[in-house]
Amino acid sequence: MTDPRSLDPLEARLRDRLQARQPELVRQLEELVAIPSGQGHVPGLDLMRERLVTRLEALGATTELRPGAPRPDWLLGGVQADPPPTAVCSRPLEGGGPRILIAGHIDTVHDPEDTFIALTHEADGISRGPGAADMKGGLLVALAALEALDAEGVECHWTYLINSDEETGTFCSERHLQDAAAEHDLGLVIEPALPDGSLVVERMGSGQFMIEVEGRSAHVGREFERGISAVKTLAEVMGRVLDLADPGNGRIVNIGPLQGGGATNAVPDHAACWGNLRFADPEAQAALAAAIEAIETDYATDASGRPLPADHLPRVTIHRTFNRPAKPQTEDVTAIAMAARSVAEALGGEMPFGRTGGVCDANVLQSAGLPCVDTLGIRGGNLHRRDEYVEIESLWERAALFAILMKRISCGETDLVP
Ligand SMILES: [Zn+2]
Repeated sequence: MTDPRSLDPLEARLRDRLQARQPELVRQLEELVAIPSGQGHVPGLDLMRERLVTRLEALGATTELRPGAPRPDWLLGGVQADPPPTAVCSRPLEGGGPRILIAGHIDTVHDPEDTFIALTHEADGISRGPGAADMKGGLLVALAALEALDAEGVECHWTYLINSDEETGTFCSERHLQDAAAEHDLGLVIEPALPDGSLVVERMGSGQFMIEVEGRSAHVGREFERGISAVKTLAEVMGRVLDLADPGNGRIVNIGPLQGGGATNAVPDHAACWGNLRFADPEAQAALAAAIEAIETDYATDASGRPLPADHLPRVTIHRTFNRPAKPQTEDVTAIAMAARSVAEALGGEMPFGRTGGVCDANVLQSAGLPCVDTLGIRGGNLHRRDEYVEIESLWERAALFAILMKRISCGETDLVP
């Protein structure tokens, strides 16, 4: 093993090569940011994917375009008309080596029709643009790193997976992430680093739910007693679900938006709400799942626990999915994180470790068995806002970090046991 505190000559060449490319990388980031790929904008997503795939194929990758699955129709926002495909670009290595999965999303949260459409540079090294940090900067960091490794003849076994629906929950591409997880030894996900360069080593999990109540409509003045208010039952159920929150023990419950009723003089026969659950670990997930199931069962059974007829009102349905399980800091995660920290230090920087309640595709990958670290992208902040920014110098710096980390993993110079 090399001295973790210094760069060997090959690593120094990787760094110098990427530093020299910085002006070109800035231009490329401007081009990527100018492609509107937010909110399911298909032409932008297609163009983004094509730009990346072309460069990966130039490195010898072969591409498979896997069709997207439809989202559950009860999710807020409804079904996506055209579930976007996932591009899986692989360059396997003859003779083995750890199989590295790089995962990035090309969608952003930004409105393609907005006036926040270009990367603009400020005097203090800050550049602002939609998706610049989350995660076009990261996509470019990994791409530039692979190009530098190729130019230096470093043999790495990699797959670069590009999905288009991370910001809307990864429902269309989840299956492809799980399949890829099974075929690799570790994952490097290029979400933006925290502003101080911190690497996230632990994430909560997240689930979505919808509570739907059917009641019976009636005129409020003429036949109020015939009515069964869906809003009243929804309020009861919401109260019980919200009471499941216990943030100190890693259980978070949020509800909103709500829907119910059409006129104040009619008993509402339909009401619904959507909500989000967060949980620190599989135990908290299981506890929330069981409690929600028990609430739903309460409304489907009589006082002695016998099932009520199917047409009984009010009828309560709780749709739910726990599609982003918690991502704990396992031993393997620690090993990758320590390897990344060692590279950051060799490059003259620092890499503190952090934790967050936010979720990303690394939650999906790691729950499918692939140890991952996930904030290896560019340094930036104000994500999902109209003043999203990147530290532009971190483009080449993070690319150097990524390239040297891949080199050390591929050459067996880390404590990772694939
Ligand atoms: Zn992201």
